[in-house]
Amino acid sequence: MIMNTFFVCPNCGNDKEFRIFTSSFRDIKQSPELGMRIEESDVLPNLRETDTYVECKLCFQRFERGYVASVGKKYIKITQRLQKTRHTSLGLDIYHVDGK
Ligand SMILES: [Zn+2]
Repeated sequence: MIMNTFFVCPNCGNDKEFRIFTSSFRDIKQSPELGMRIEESDVLPNLRETDTYVECKLCFQRFERGYVASVGKKYIKITQRLQKTRHTSLGLDIYHVDGK
């Protein structure tokens, strides 16, 4: 099952590569621009069978899955707001050029 959950590491701000552990584990890649997961590795068996958590592939910190997902949700909201602002100011620039 591919879930469109976006993770952001609360420790180092990594928003691209994570390893997800459940009864198995897999590596995922995300696109911060799209705000979604773009690549998943095959599922590999996790011999230790621990609880579900997400490991940041940059700083190797481990977090509870729900926590990195909620950080990711906030992150996307902020990014989308920034993109909207950028588009608006771009629109104004065009308007001014046309008005000459
Ligand atoms: Zn990290």
